[in-house]
Amino acid sequence: MPTKDLDLLLREGALQPPKGFFERRPPNSKPFLKNFDEYLKLYKQSIDDPEKFFSQMAIENLSWSKKFDYGRLPTNEKIFNKETCDAAAWFVGGELNACYNCVDRHALLNPNKPAIIYEADEPNEGYILTFGELLKKICQVSQILKQLGVKKGDTVAVYLPMIPEAIITLMAIVRIGAIHSVIFAGFSSASLRDRIIDANSKIVITSDESKRGGKIIETKKIVDEALKQCPAVTNVLVFKRTGNSHIPWTKGRDLWWHEEINKYIPYIPPTAVSSEDPLFLLYTSGSTGKPKGVQHNTAGYLLGALLTTKYVFDVHPDDILFTAGDVGWITGHSYVVYGPLLNGATTVVFEGTPAYPNYSRYWEIVDKYKVTQFYVAPTALRLLKRAGSKYVENYDLSSLRTLGSVGEPIAPEVWEWYNEFVGRNNAHICDTYWQTETGSHIIAPLAGITPTKAGSASFPFFGIDPVIVDPVSGEELIGNDVEGVLCVRNPWPSMARSIWNDYNRFLDTYLKPFRGYYFTGDGAARDKDGFYWILGRVDDVVNVSGHRLSTAEIESALIEHHLVAESAVVGFPDELTGSAVAAFVALKDKSLYSDDDNANDIKKQLIVTVRKEIGPFAAPKMILLVNDLPKTRSGKIMRRIMRKILAGEEDQLGDVSTLSNPDVVQHLIDVVKSN
Ligand code: ATP
Ligand code: MG
Repeated sequence: MPTKDLDLLLREGALQPPKGFFERRPPNSKPFLKNFDEYLKLYKQSIDDPEKFFSQMAIENLSWSKKFDYGRLPTNEKIFNKETCDAAAWFVGGELNACYNCVDRHALLNPNKPAIIYEADEPNEGYILTFGELLKKICQVSQILKQLGVKKGDTVAVYLPMIPEAIITLMAIVRIGAIHSVIFAGFSSASLRDRIIDANSKIVITSDESKRGGKIIETKKIVDEALKQCPAVTNVLVFKRTGNSHIPWTKGRDLWWHEEINKYIPYIPPTAVSSEDPLFLLYTSGSTGKPKGVQHNTAGYLLGALLTTKYVFDVHPDDILFTAGDVGWITGHSYVVYGPLLNGATTVVFEGTPAYPNYSRYWEIVDKYKVTQFYVAPTALRLLKRAGSKYVENYDLSSLRTLGSVGEPIAPEVWEWYNEFVGRNNAHICDTYWQTETGSHIIAPLAGITPTKAGSASFPFFGIDPVIVDPVSGEELIGNDVEGVLCVRNPWPSMARSIWNDYNRFLDTYLKPFRGYYFTGDGAARDKDGFYWILGRVDDVVNVSGHRLSTAEIESALIEHHLVAESAVVGFPDELTGSAVAAFVALKDKSLYSDDDNANDIKKQLIVTVRKEIGPFAAPKMILLVNDLPKTRSGKIMRRIMRKILAGEEDQLGDVSTLSNPDVVQHLIDVVKSN
């Protein structure tokens, strides 16, 4: 909770929301909040009486086929119970349908309004789908699924690229009360197999092939490979994306989407489900080990996705939101699919990459469709910053009001670049902190309202009571200017309810490590003004002579150096200090470190940079110049790999199948050996 009023925060260096922000919202729309004081007032209400606050929000914003009896169970407990550790149930007794809320109610009102803008991998291939057209296709696919025996409560595996059919599929599944389990279409056949088996899915929906960055991916072939070991799968529904003729086919099991869809009528009614019936499961990206099938239930998740899209991004029904994330991750679920559609806004579905056919691709899309909210991960921003601002400059980006960031801490240097070159100092930068498990943003500025500091996710969203806990004693650290482990004191509507089929693992991972709190696994600081700074995963913290150093902080310092494109900091064993800091650094221009003297010179400069920015104790003892860093398929740096290599445990790297660039592992081993 911020402890100072807005004027004081601004005087002390926080950045003001861009001037004229609300005047630039769509005509005929009203601001959702007047000002920061109103946020403070509502925030307080949401913490003092969450049941009342969210019940009112749920009634105002969602359409119910049966109204709920209770806002929350257990009704008398506002915080996590230290004994039971159970998550709360929300909107108990209520019934609703997710697809009805996302699509039908807008299609009824305004069938010709664009729901999806599809931007294909090749520029100028793509089309717009209205709410009316979307509803019809969903209803037809729902009937295919019913015909294949899918019933309420069954899981359906989805392995699709970023095409409108991905949204149609998710909506068709939830329309009949089934549960979707999306597996990111960049995953290998082995990862796909494990997730199909874990979720016990009997139906898989996929495409013949996919196109990404000008390349063809043999999607169906990967599925077939996975299915060799999934005897429970009875059918595969295949959307024809490229139409190449040589894809593998199993008669009787495999069905073409385009042949099936035309057999069915354009409307069937949605199936109402209970508030707490599961909506989907989603496996986390796996940066920290064995993937978990995170389970979200219907009403609470929908409300979280709806409210955060509305208040954090300031999305009005006439806005066009472009979330450049994949539907295979939670960001795609909440802010490509559910959030925009629940608000009746238009969502951009982008099949390609930021670098194809060149580094201007995002900005070309923003310019072409007059996108109002853009949302992306720091990894993409680092790539684009490294490519140079010349790729941004020639586009009209004046439609943008909100620029979101998600997935990793965003270094102030990158934040500033985003603000200046993309936002032209006229858009609100919203660094949104959340997780697959939280369902929607939990710490984030509200666009147009919240003052910001570059690199801070700012303040909690409604209903979130963040707590900084001392990792050793487990005690809450009160007041400002504290640093520790980030927890949440109270249950909120969109928090995950379980790990699929493993409720005990859910409790062990999130609710038992610090009893009485939800444990995020991330370190965080609350500064003197009450702003939250995410410091990275607790496992990544480096402990040098008793100083707990945040990897994110050291990485932010390194990226300030003009030659650095990206860096990853890890600890390694050191006799003297317990552990020491090692920095893996990828430079912007690879030719700069071909010659030894030069490389040593750059390393010295980097050490000086860290000493100056943070302090001598944080200076890396070892700097390794590398071509690339190991990343998950969602673009996050996997520090675990570097830690193991440095410790000489390269035979114990664990599961590297979720890496997007597995070749980098050998490169890192070579660099470490030759150092
Ligand atoms: P796994 O749990 O399998 O290791 P993951 O944590 O990478 O995978 P996600 O749920 O997609 O899977 O990512 C959530 C994590 O991403 C957070 O716990 C945090 O570490 C990081 N994160 C997300 N948003 C931000 C942000 N704005 N600032 C800093 N870190 C962020
Ligand atoms: Mg995680």
